[in-house]
Formats: sequence, structure tokens, C-alpha cells
Amino acid sequence: MYILHVTAECFPIAKVGGLADVVGALPKYQESAGFTSKVIMPFYEKKFVQTHVPINYTTGNLLLGIDEYYYEILEYSKEILGFELYLVKIFGLTDKENVYGYPYDTERFTAFQKVVADFILTQEVKPEIIHCHDHHTGLIPFFTAHCYKYNDLKTIPTVLTIHNAQYQGWFGFEKMNYLPEFPVEKKGLLDWKGQINPLATAIKCAWRITTVSPNYLGELQEKANGLEELLKQEAEKSLGILNGIDDVVWNPKKDKFLKSNFDRRSILKRNGNKEWLCETFDFDPNLPLVSFIGRFVHEKGSDLLPDVIRYIFDELKLNVNLLILGSGDGNTERDLNDIKPFYKENYNNYIGYNEELAHIVYGGTDFLLMPSRVEPCGLNQLYAMRYGAIPIVSNVGGLKDTVIDFDENTKGSGIVCFDISVHEIGFAIKRAVDVFENTSFYKKKRLEIMSINSGWKKSAAQYIKLYQSLTLNILP
Ligand code: ADP
Repeated sequence: MYILHVTAECFPIAKVGGLADVVGALPKYQESAGFTSKVIMPFYEKKFVQTHVPINYTTGNLLLGIDEYYYEILEYSKEILGFELYLVKIFGLTDKENVYGYPYDTERFTAFQKVVADFILTQEVKPEIIHCHDHHTGLIPFFTAHCYKYNDLKTIPTVLTIHNAQYQGWFGFEKMNYLPEFPVEKKGLLDWKGQINPLATAIKCAWRITTVSPNYLGELQEKANGLEELLKQEAEKSLGILNGIDDVVWNPKKDKFLKSNFDRRSILKRNGNKEWLCETFDFDPNLPLVSFIGRFVHEKGSDLLPDVIRYIFDELKLNVNLLILGSGDGNTERDLNDIKPFYKENYNNYIGYNEELAHIVYGGTDFLLMPSRVEPCGLNQLYAMRYGAIPIVSNVGGLKDTVIDFDENTKGSGIVCFDISVHEIGFAIKRAVDVFENTSFYKKKRLEIMSINSGWKKSAAQYIKLYQSLTLNILP
């Protein structure tokens, strides 16, 4: 079977969040299970393209409304990443550095999707499954099912994976002329509440829908930024498949970013990472270290962090260190910097994106804090557990599927915070301090969570089963 993944992000080429990690890993596991799995994504002016040479390239022209664009598709060999890769470089649109955030993102991703559909049309050996990820690729199931030009692709099953339903790629019907021609009666498939909504379109048109955790699927039917009813309607073709982690990239024994490599048997070496963090951020290494890694957006609960810091140090007077690595919302960044001088000994931050530092934090922090309001799967808690950091998480989405609260009988894999408020998060951090002080329990748990198997094997097999059900046309 040949599966083509279409995506906006893929690690290590371009990463903003978990989408990149998933698309960078899943095809590798599919390849090693004997399938052909390839990735096609937009070109970005990043390190990967400066340090790797394509083995082949094709060129073409694209019409978007009345504007014509020249494009190249660069092909990279399987030897580099473990799967074949295609980068779509549309001059003037996808020859930029950043993944998102341009005022013409609609044009960038719509043009990208048209090139992808054209590319599939001209491929001699066509994919047997087109696997689309998030709204940036959500028009493709519509193109292949309903646009005249792609009539030959009609029979190729399409799968949509929702990594995050908050972002839907909305744009106005005045840009409908960007799309390839289709019968007028199909216009409704593009429409959700008066706008073209690529995520809604994909939910309607894809043959199957998956979400990145089973619990997130149920949550979306209640709360999905306006798409609840649609997801309920399409429940029969939907399935939650938990993300795995790439246990080659995320292996504390071999991770090249760590200051000190370790595994369960050499757990004492883990201290080397904590010591480095404490020296770098000026902390007392004898105190428990709690860290946050992530984008500063409402979904992640990061706006609560400044008040949590005040609360745990001013009110609860906890003996704990708090480290924050992240960037995003300007107010949060400013507040987190402004309070630094008041808690110099116990709180510090790194505002920005730093892959290397993130690995050291997973490998050195005692606890990883995730007070998310929405968490489709969450990879951080899985990385944390594999690296021996106890997760402190809210009870939502994939966090609910992957972290079980410690109970009095000492079962469980972390600390679960059942309400997302400053008070409850502060209380959860207090519980973490108590756990840390109960040294034998803390050490036992740390080893236990490191042995949880969160690799891709099981989830990759679920995707294969799903693809196979499509060729036989059986509902999952
Ligand atoms: P999301 O995709 O919603 O951002 P996930 O938990 O699925 O959340 O994935 C987040 C990924 O991004 C993890 O690999 C995490 O380590 C990484 N990450 C997030 N923020 C940063 C940052 N500031 N520096 C380094 N890595 C980060």
C-alpha cells in the first residue's frame, strides 16, 4: 500500500508543534512495517533545505484566481528521513521562512493544495490513500471528490486527521475562484456558517476522520470551535487514535541534546541534566524543579502562569523552582518577564523556541506542568514520562487518555489537576512538592513512568487497519 501524507509541518524540516512530530514519525513506522509512505508539504526557507540536496525536481505553473505562479516540487530520497519527501516551492507564496502567520496564508495553503492535487494526478503510481493533516490540507478531499479536473482521483480514499480543531482556515466566498471548477450544487460542502471552512469541508468530504486521541474525539462533539454538530453528524466515520512518540528521536540513552544520557538502569546520570538547568537558570538543585514547555496560547493555560507563580510563592510559600520555556501571546510573555525580579531565586524563563533546551528540560526537570484547557493529544507528557519527569496535567483530551492520577494506593502515573484555575494548579504543584519529598515514592514512580510504552507501533497499526478498512469499505 502507498500512503501519501499531506501536511504543513514535518519534523525535522519545519516544526511549530506536535503536528510536525507526528508527521515526522508515523511515515517512518509505516515504512518499517512494509508500506510505502511519503510526505508532501510546502517548502520553507529553513536549515533542512540548505543542508540537503534534492534528487529530483519537477516544475509547473499554477493559476490562483487571476494570478499565475511558477512552482517547483523538490524530491528528497528516503535515505534522509526514512521516507520519501516532496517540498512544494511556489515562488512568491511558499518560499518563505515561517510556517504560518503571513497575511496571505489562505493563498499559500490553497495554492499548495492545488499543486498537491495536480502532482497526484500526474504521478504514474498513484497513492492508494491520501492522508490529510489539519485544515491546511482540508480542501484536498473536496478537490478529489468533486472537482472536474481531478475526476481520475475520485476513487482514492482520503483520511483527515484532526490534530487541532481550534484552527479551521476560514476564508470568504469572494475567494472561491481560487478553487478548481466544481458543480455548483457542491458549493454547500465548502460552507460552514457563511464562510469557506477547509476543516469543515474535510470533515464532510474525507472518507474517514481521525482525532489524535480517543478522548479528544468525544470532547470535539461537545466543543469544537463551532464544528460540534458537524462532528456529531459524521461520528460514524470518525475514530480516535492516540499519537505515539518517535522513540528513536526521543530516547534519553542516545539523545544528542542531553547534557547527560541515561536510562532506567543509569538513572543517577539524569542528575547531570538537572544540575545543568539549575546552573543555567540559577536555581538551588536540591529543590524540586517544575517546568512548562509550550506555545503561549489560551488552550495551553499559559495565561494563568503569572498568577500561578504569585500564588505558589506568595500564598503557598512553596519551596520549589519553576522554569518556563515558550513563546506566543505577547501579554503572557511580558507578564512572565515582569515578575522575574520578584522571584529571582525560584523562577526563571526562556522566551522563545529552543528544541535543544526542550530536550534537556524533559531530561532534567522533576515535574512537567501542562495546565491545558484543550489538549488534542499532547506529546509533552509522553516525552516527559519517557525521560523520567512526572507530569502534572489537567484532565482534558489526550492527557486524560495518558496520565492517571496518583492515588492513595500509589497507583497512577502523574498528578492530575481536575479544574483549571490558579488555585487548583497551585494545589497540584503543592502535591508535586509532597511527592518529591517522599523520596522513595518519587524514585519508584520515576522509573515506572519511564517504562511506559508510548511508541508508535500500536497506533501505526491502528492507522493501517483503518486504511485497509477503506479498501474494503467497512466502517471502523
Ligand atoms: P501543540 O502541537 O499543541 O503545540 P504538542 O504537545 O502536541 O502541542 O506538541 C508540542 C511540541 O512542541 C513538543 O515537541 C514540544 O516539546 C515542542 N515545543 C513547544 N514549545 C516549544 C518551545 N518553546 N521550545 C521547544 N520546543 C517546544
